[in-house]
Amino acid sequence: MKIWRPYTQMLGAHPPFPVAQAEGAYLYLKNGRKILDGISSWWVITHGHSHPAITDAIAKQARVLDQVVFADFSHDSAEELVDLLGTLLPSSFSRAFFSDNGSTSVEVAMKMAYQACMQSGQKGRRKFLTFERAYHGDTCGAMSVTADGLFTAAYDDLRFQTIRCKQGSYLNDSMEEWLGDFIRQMSRYGDQIAAVIIEPLLQGAGGMVVWPIEALQEIERICREQKIFIIFDEVMTGFGRTGSLFAFEKIGRMPDFLCLSKGLTGGALPLAVTLTTDQIYENFLSSNSNRMFFHGHSFTGNAISCAAASANLRLFQSSRVIQQIQSIQRAHHDAISLLRKEIPLKDARVIGPVGIIEVDQEAGYGSHFSKEISARCMDQGLFIRPLGEVIYLMPPYCTTPLEVRFAWETILDVCRKLFFR
Ligand SMILES: *Cc1c(COP(=O)(O)O)cnc(C)c1O
Repeated sequence: MKIWRPYTQMLGAHPPFPVAQAEGAYLYLKNGRKILDGISSWWVITHGHSHPAITDAIAKQARVLDQVVFADFSHDSAEELVDLLGTLLPSSFSRAFFSDNGSTSVEVAMKMAYQACMQSGQKGRRKFLTFERAYHGDTCGAMSVTADGLFTAAYDDLRFQTIRCKQGSYLNDSMEEWLGDFIRQMSRYGDQIAAVIIEPLLQGAGGMVVWPIEALQEIERICREQKIFIIFDEVMTGFGRTGSLFAFEKIGRMPDFLCLSKGLTGGALPLAVTLTTDQIYENFLSSNSNRMFFHGHSFTGNAISCAAASANLRLFQSSRVIQQIQSIQRAHHDAISLLRKEIPLKDARVIGPVGIIEVDQEAGYGSHFSKEISARCMDQGLFIRPLGEVIYLMPPYCTTPLEVRFAWETILDVCRKLFFR
């Protein structure tokens, strides 16, 4: 038996790097090499790999209670996590539904929004509205609200119909560009829409696109006016990735659904949660069991994952994480302003601990360009995965400014040698 790897054309794929250990900001390969994890292992690691507080919590919980049927039982591990989330989030988020990954947290939000409409006399509201560069996961529902592209084309017939909006370019700030199509689509289809789904502030997989805050505020206002639910998919932006604990804090607006996963356990174990309000929850309360929420997963509310998540959240409460993030942010700014003078860039942007450059090359996802950049950075001790011509760093929060500088110098060196001599 051999392994079939994710997002990989297995024919001719380079063999994977055998990794032996990970600690803090580093991966340690079996051949003894030490590699800086420039993308927090697909955006999941928060404080650093194998953080002792998180690994201790996992070990302790594993000895006491591992897994139990969440439809019939509850446990301190989940109760404690929900209490902690309650202290970190506005009180209007009153209900938490667990699943295992980002895609399922999105599926849960969509099914809840849809069913809430069906059960509250809004049977015309059967569609979702999504944006041009959106990414919400790889399961069929989440893929349906993901933008059309390379990752969805092979499955187009499996995707349900969705209203898709163009949006502005980050190189062009005009509000008309950002909102024009949304406003047009809303006036046409508004009364058919159950929910609008957005990656608030920063669209990740679509190319690290930063939203103007005012555009998001306006979208929220229009949704409220038309009584359309809002889903904030904070699977990536949650847990500090935009500089505040959650992106919605910076926008100053609350969604009806908040999807969290990736950084929830600090990256140590899979877990997701979909948070919602009493208003939604009450649509499912009935003496008729046909009106319950028909969804669950074998591992819903896994006790070990919940313990890891609580330990992760306590680190956010107790340590200087936001300061760490700010120093990473400053290091990005410093390095990028130097790099700008050295190679031609289409754009550069920094948001919280994420530093992004867009080089002046035509290159799609998985192109020769991005593969070459990754391979050469890896040779020099840095792990990154550019999104086409968008090269970014999203390091774990324990990464020092010096390490951030090393990462950008490595990227500069590689780009210079490869393309901009
Ligand atoms: C990664 C991601 C998902 C999917 O999460 P998985 O755990 O990979 O299923 C959904 N939404 C956003 C915004 C993501 O970045």
